[in-house]
Amino acid sequence: MTDLDECWKDGTSADVGDIEISNNGQVLSLLVGNCYLFVHKDIEDKASRTLDDYWKGKIENIKIHPTLPSSKNILLKVRWFWSKQDVQTQMKRKLSHDLSLILNSMAKQELLASDTLSIVCSSSVEDEVDIIMLGNENNQEPVFEYFFRFLWKERDAAVHGDPQGCGLAKCKRPWAPDKEEQRYCFSCKLWYHVDCLVSATRITQEQLFEARVINGCNGPFPTVLLQAALQPVARGGQRHFIAGNIRIISFARLLLEDENMRMKLAGNDQLDGPSWTRLLEAEFGIESEEQGDEWKEAIFTGNQSIYKCPNCPMSVEI
Ligand SMILES: [Zn+2]
Ligand SMILES: [Zn+2]
Repeated sequence: MTDLDECWKDGTSADVGDIEISNNGQVLSLLVGNCYLFVHKDIEDKASRTLDDYWKGKIENIKIHPTLPSSKNILLKVRWFWSKQDVQTQMKRKLSHDLSLILNSMAKQELLASDTLSIVCSSSVEDEVDIIMLGNENNQEPVFEYFFRFLWKERDAAVHGDPQGCGLAKCKRPWAPDKEEQRYCFSCKLWYHVDCLVSATRITQEQLFEARVINGCNGPFPTVLLQAALQPVARGGQRHFIAGNIRIISFARLLLEDENMRMKLAGNDQLDGPSWTRLLEAEFGIESEEQGDEWKEAIFTGNQSIYKCPNCPMSVEI
């Protein structure tokens, strides 16, 4: 237990909630629930630091201690994120097969949430950092800096969370987001490694698009909206942003189904294609010049291979 732990627990500190601090001459807001970069003793001099060098943690609570000097009296309870290297260093050579599989699947910008808590002084905070949870939700936020999927429990030295990265029951591989693409099937609501799918139909994305327009989407819909809604749902790998296009496609599908929502967004149904592209980009905070950047979401990605869902009986193309 450190002196700061004692100060936190001695009953004299007052909970303050969110607070502003002065940091390198700038005002930095410390908000409970947000994630920050922390300086630590092993960190190199400032000029050569990268984001990866900092410790990263989420502020769980903020207190002011009445008797500590004013430069050290703002105390933070921080829940730490662990990197893959942190776990490897801690475990040395005692990595189990399952733990190795998960660590090997981790992307460069991936962290592990943890049960490790400590009390630190606000002077160790450097800046805010964006760390989002990557799950299987239809409104999955994009990854800009870091993300996490799993929880590292330091006490039992194990990773918790669902390592099953694939809807195919016999596939036991986790998903490696920056190496492998996955496809999603809206019918069975599962993600699959593309390596686990069969390209059985030899249909092109363009042919699938035309078939889907004829089969299900009557009405004067703008082509841009149809293309966004009816493209394959994909994430990861060389061509797709880590969080993928599921939130864009889910939104575009809702717009096709709901005229009121469409009118609310566009004002009328007579807008041309470029206007619809700009509306969708604005909705998702995408700059036109970012299209095609693997770190950015794209409203539409063409020339993709089409696969068949292995779990759905009606040969659903994905
Ligand atoms: Zn698989
Ligand atoms: Zn399916």
